Amino acid sequence: MRLDDQRRSTNVEYRTGGGGGGGMRGGLPLRMRGLGLGGIIIIGIILLIMPANMRNAILGQIMGGGGGAQTQSVGDSAGSAACPAGQEQSCQFFEVVLGSTEDVWGAVVQQRALPSYGATPATYAQPRLVVFFGQSVDTGCGTATTDVGPFYCPVDSQLYINPSFYETMARRLNAPGDFAQAYVIAHEVGHHVQNLIGATRLVNQARGGPQENQMSVRLELQADCLAGVWGNRERADLSIDAADLQEALNAAHQIGDDTLQRNSRGYASPDSFTHGSSEQRMRWFRRGFDGGDARQCDTFGVRDFRQL
Ligand SMILES: [Zn+2]
Repeated sequence: MRLDDQRRSTNVEYRTGGGGGGGMRGGLPLRMRGLGLGGIIIIGIILLIMPANMRNAILGQIMGGGGGAQTQSVGDSAGSAACPAGQEQSCQFFEVVLGSTEDVWGAVVQQRALPSYGATPATYAQPRLVVFFGQSVDTGCGTATTDVGPFYCPVDSQLYINPSFYETMARRLNAPGDFAQAYVIAHEVGHHVQNLIGATRLVNQARGGPQENQMSVRLELQADCLAGVWGNRERADLSIDAADLQEALNAAHQIGDDTLQRNSRGYASPDSFTHGSSEQRMRWFRRGFDGGDARQCDTFGVRDFRQL
């Protein structure tokens, strides 16, 4: 994977400093609002490593909220902080990868080459990526701690990541590599695309019901597939090679629900899966990567969940 000479997105914001509070956009309430944290969609480890009480609060917020997939533009006018000293390489990485997703999804949306679940965007509204270095971050979905891992907040249309997650990936999850890291961002951007096409709303409507986990799995596998579509379309520009693909597939494997559950407690319970098995995550990423067509990422159109 090569990042030199690529366009860098200007939609990346850096937040340094301690925990919550500092660097907050003006006027955004700290309390949970709208979808609450439950609207947050994350890469895979959250429900396993999050304390049960916080998890319940999040799910409870969703069940009590009934807010649906509202999207608000919050704090767009806030200026981006500059890249922190000593972080230039990682800033380049975030800006180039996000920029490449903007190019891909801008074109795909313009071509209307996407599945649709009641919404067909005319243009691609670019999300912002907030790179934070502290222990917690204030978001339109509430305050999140670093433990949560990277996530997308549909309320403010922003992606959040603490770069320390990449160390977690490399060391604890055995998922190293720059393209594996890029896949994480592309997956979260996939959630933004899902927000634009109505998929997020479908899943939120199922919260609290018997289909909740299955709908979550459909959403997550679709985000993996959309990440694959991005990889396909950036193959030439970012010099993505076979080793890169293996990095992403390995990451998809390592963050599969069955693998995470087996590693943490020795066995897997498929009914509790929210992101899909390792095999599913690899297969859907691969599907997007091989075909490059987001319309092939219609996980919601697979009628029998067992065929997903
Ligand atoms: Zn996700």
